[in-house]
Amino acid sequence: MSFSSFGLSEPILRALDEKGYSTPFPIQVKAIPAVLSGKDVMAAAQTGTGKTAAFLLPLLQRLASGSKVKANHIRTLVLAPTRELAVQIADSIAGYGNYLSLKSSVVYGGVKINPQMMKLRGGLDVLVATPGRLLDLFSKNAVKFSQVETLVLDEADRMLDLGFIGDIRKILALLPKKRQNLLFSATFSTDIRKLTDNLLKNPVQIEVNPRNSAATSVKQWIYEVDKKRKSALLSHLVRNKGWERALVFTRTKNGADRLVRKLVGDGISAAAIHGDKSQAKRSRTLADFKANKIRVLVATDIAARGIDIIELSHVINFDLPKVPEDYVHRIGRTGRAGSGGEGISLVSADEIKLLSGIESLIRQLLVREVESGFVPTHQVPLTRLLKLRPKKPKKPKKPKLKQEQKQGEGRKTGSKQKSGRNKPRRGGKSQGTKKANRTPRVRGKQKHDK
Ligand code: AMP
Repeated sequence: MSFSSFGLSEPILRALDEKGYSTPFPIQVKAIPAVLSGKDVMAAAQTGTGKTAAFLLPLLQRLASGSKVKANHIRTLVLAPTRELAVQIADSIAGYGNYLSLKSSVVYGGVKINPQMMKLRGGLDVLVATPGRLLDLFSKNAVKFSQVETLVLDEADRMLDLGFIGDIRKILALLPKKRQNLLFSATFSTDIRKLTDNLLKNPVQIEVNPRNSAATSVKQWIYEVDKKRKSALLSHLVRNKGWERALVFTRTKNGADRLVRKLVGDGISAAAIHGDKSQAKRSRTLADFKANKIRVLVATDIAARGIDIIELSHVINFDLPKVPEDYVHRIGRTGRAGSGGEGISLVSADEIKLLSGIESLIRQLLVREVESGFVPTHQVPLTRLLKLRPKKPKKPKKPKLKQEQKQGEGRKTGSKQKSGRNKPRRGGKSQGTKKANRTPRVRGKQKHDK
């Protein structure tokens, strides 16, 4: 199947051709015709599936042949949870719409509002916005909604996680009742369902597997290591494994800053991106990372949302995430668009429960390694897959027919690991043995950390 079979116009096909997209991804196959027909869409899809093009391509096509936009009005509103994702979507609009004469812009908080007000003056075909800043602009009469034809809620689950439900309700109440609604979310919690019940009218429901859950293109494994030696191990791995560009996740902002200081102290170019950094600083850091001026980018989960760098080869979990689903989101930063990648976690004994939760979610025991010189004194207990059915993006429930009124491989070095309980390693015992008398497999010649 090719993009031309959707009836997309020549300027869009030319832009896709230049980007090197030859075959539509599954979500695009399903969503493009639905959006083109003007229907509401509800899609369970994560970043990395190609969801952005799935909604943008048909929207741009429709916009190109529609009515002219009035001053301060907008025709399409795309709401995104974070500034990074909003900028990413705006970049995609610029790319896919390169040969169309549509006007678009992006607004988000943490920067001056006046330049954003200026851009809205002449009206826009597409506005990408974070909810808080959009409401600020509305309160200043800088944006008017009566010409809105389509609303896109991207990463709706993350918007609710970030506490934007109140702002979203306010925005929904301001929009014209007759409009097309497109909702994308990685998960469908009760809260998301409540939102969709009120929002969507007879939506076309789309569910695609997260590309990384199949783990076909991303190799995943863990290094067992003592907590206090994690940063030394990371420096060692970056230097010795030839990791030229790694995205490293920490759980906290302070942890990210501490790790950057340590890496820089070890002579590795590194910078952090998190919520306490100004937008200007975050944009600069991201640009430096993309331009290969920074080797290691340390990020917290929220800040990393929307970072889209195709050539990203390594994603490192310095800390395991508290929420297992975040592991899948993190690993989804690499191995995109079919390119290979490696997802590596540094795991200490105290993170055993988190590890077990992740393995049960992805239905795979992660391969374990111990790096020569970093053999842990606190051994990471063995795990087994819990019988709990992993939480998958659930098939969205059919919403009420109601318009919105009131108101997201064996051990890396070779051997395949079997599913089920971990195979005890040499001299090892299975989980449940209080003192696991086992000798971890050590990479390299050296066997023990002295
Ligand atoms: P997204 O899920 O929208 O963040 O997209 C994931 C990545 O896949 C982005 O880097 C897109 O540029 C890329 N992409 C999306 N659709 C295609 C396609 N049909 N062919 C090749 N790459 C694509």
